[in-house]
Amino acid sequence: MEKILNLIGGQHVLPASGRFLDNVDPSTGEVYSLIPDSDQRDVADAVTAARAAFPVWSGMAAEKRAAVLNKMADLIDRDWKVLAAAESRDNGKTLKLASTLDIPRASANIRFFASGIQHFASEAHLTGSEAVNYTIRAPWGVAGCISPWNLPLYLFTWKIAPALAAGCTVVAKPSELTPMTAYLFSHYAEEAGMPAGALNIVHGSGSSAGQAIVEHPDVAGISFTGGTVTGRKIAATAAPMFKKLSLELGGKNPNIVFADCDFEKTVQQSVRAAFTNQGEICLCGSRIFVEAALYEKFVAAFVQETSRLRVGNPADDSTDLGPLVTAAHRQKVEGYIALALEEGGTIAFGGRRPQVDGLPNGFFLEPTVITGLSHHCRTNQEEIFGPVVTIMPFQTEAEALEYANSTTYGLAATVFTENLSRAHRMAAQIRSGIIWINCWLYRDLRTPFGGMKQSGVGREGGWEALRFFTEAKNVCIKLP
Ligand code: NAP
Repeated sequence: MEKILNLIGGQHVLPASGRFLDNVDPSTGEVYSLIPDSDQRDVADAVTAARAAFPVWSGMAAEKRAAVLNKMADLIDRDWKVLAAAESRDNGKTLKLASTLDIPRASANIRFFASGIQHFASEAHLTGSEAVNYTIRAPWGVAGCISPWNLPLYLFTWKIAPALAAGCTVVAKPSELTPMTAYLFSHYAEEAGMPAGALNIVHGSGSSAGQAIVEHPDVAGISFTGGTVTGRKIAATAAPMFKKLSLELGGKNPNIVFADCDFEKTVQQSVRAAFTNQGEICLCGSRIFVEAALYEKFVAAFVQETSRLRVGNPADDSTDLGPLVTAAHRQKVEGYIALALEEGGTIAFGGRRPQVDGLPNGFFLEPTVITGLSHHCRTNQEEIFGPVVTIMPFQTEAEALEYANSTTYGLAATVFTENLSRAHRMAAQIRSGIIWINCWLYRDLRTPFGGMKQSGVGREGGWEALRFFTEAKNVCIKLP
C-alpha cells in the first residue's frame, strides 16, 4: 500500500514515530494509502530545515523566487489529470470538479502570487524637507500553513504560494483526511529548483503535527484555514507567543432572494451554492431566505432542480455529488438533519443515504432541502458543512437583513435582486467579508478574502496575503 512521506529539508522521510495513519477512500470506505503520524519531532526537524533555508530563499531576488514558483505551477498543469484523480479519490469530490476547479485553481494561486510579488512595492514619504521615510516589507521567517480537507490542493497552495513568494520559508500541514495531492505536489519542489528546506510538508493529525507547528517558538506566524473551534484553539496557543495569525474559519452563509430577481438564474445559482462539492465549501449558501411573494414558487423550483442532481461515483462524468469526506462527517451531517426535524422542520427533498451502484460502503448522502424552520434554531445557527440547505420566507428587506446577520458567522452572503439600490443597501449592511450580488463563488484573486465575526481574523488574497507574510519596518532618514 502506498505510503505518503514527509518532505523535510528537501528529502522525503519517514515520520520519527515510525507510525502511519490510515487514509480512506470515501467512495469505498476502504483504506488505500498510509499517512505519516508525525509529531513534534518531525515538526522540529522541519522548522530547523526551514530556518536554515530562510536566508537563501528570502535572499533570492523576487523574480528568481517567482521563476521557481511558476515552474511548480507548470508541473501542476503538466500533471493535472493525475492530481485531479487523486483529489477526487482522496476527498470524494467529483472528478469533474477537481479537474475544473481544484487543480486549475492550485496552479492559478501559485502563478498569481509569483506575479504579485514582482509588483509588490512599499511606500516612501517625504516629511517636509527634513526627512525621508521609507518602508521595508521583509518576510518574517518560518511560516506555518495549515489547511483543511474540503479543497485540499486549492487551499494548500492558497497559503504556501504567498508565503513563499514573499520570501518566507514554510512548514505546511495538509489535512490528514486529504494528504495525497500535497504529497504529489511535494515532489515538484526539487524538480522546480526550490532550495532544500524552503518548503517542508509534515503530514499527520491536527492535534499532534498541527499543534506542534502552532506551538513551535521559531514559527513566526500561522496561516490557518479550518473550523472555528480549531481556530479558537490555535489563537489561544499562538496569542501569548505574539505570533502573526491569519484565520479563515467557518461560515453559515445567507442567500437572500428578492421577488424581483432573475428567477431562473437565481434558482440555478442557489442550487449550485448549496450543493457544490457536497456542500463542503465554507462559502456555500446554506440558509436561503426568500421574499414571501416568491417563496412557494422558489421552493418548488429549487426542489425540482435539486432532484436532477445525481449522487454517485465521483469518477463518473454524470455525477454531481460524490460521497462526504468521512463516515464520521456524514454522521454529523445526518445528526443535523435529525435535529432539523426535532426543531419542527420538514424535509422537502433528500435526507437519506442513496444506493450507489458498485459502491455500497461509500459515505453518500442525498442533497437535502429543509423548510419550516425559524432563523434562530440551531440548524440555522451552526455550520453543517454538508449537502443540507434550509429555505425560509421573509416579509421585508429589514427582516431579511436581520435574519442574514443573526449568526455568529460572517464569511459570505449572496443577494439576488435586479434592484441596484437594494443590492447596494444590502451589501453595505450585511456583516460578512464577501457579498456576492446575483452570483456565487465568482472569484478574483486580487480581492481581500476572509470573514467577519467568528468566521475569521485577517484577510488573504491579493496584497493582503503578501502583507500578511511580510513585516513592515519604517526607516526614517533625517536630512541635513
Ligand atoms: P479543522 O478540523 O479545523 O482542520 C483544519 C486543519 O487544522 C487540518 O489540517 C487539521 O488537521 C488541523 N488541525 C486540527 N486541530 C489542530 C490543532 N489543534 N492545531 C493545529 N492544527 C490543527 O477543519 P476541517 O474539518 O478540516 O475543515 C472544515 C472547516 O474549514 C469548516 O468549518 C469550513 O468552514 C472551514 N473552511 C474555511 C474556509 C475559509 O476560507 N474561511 C475554507 C475552507 C474551509 P487534521 O485534518 O489532521 O485534523
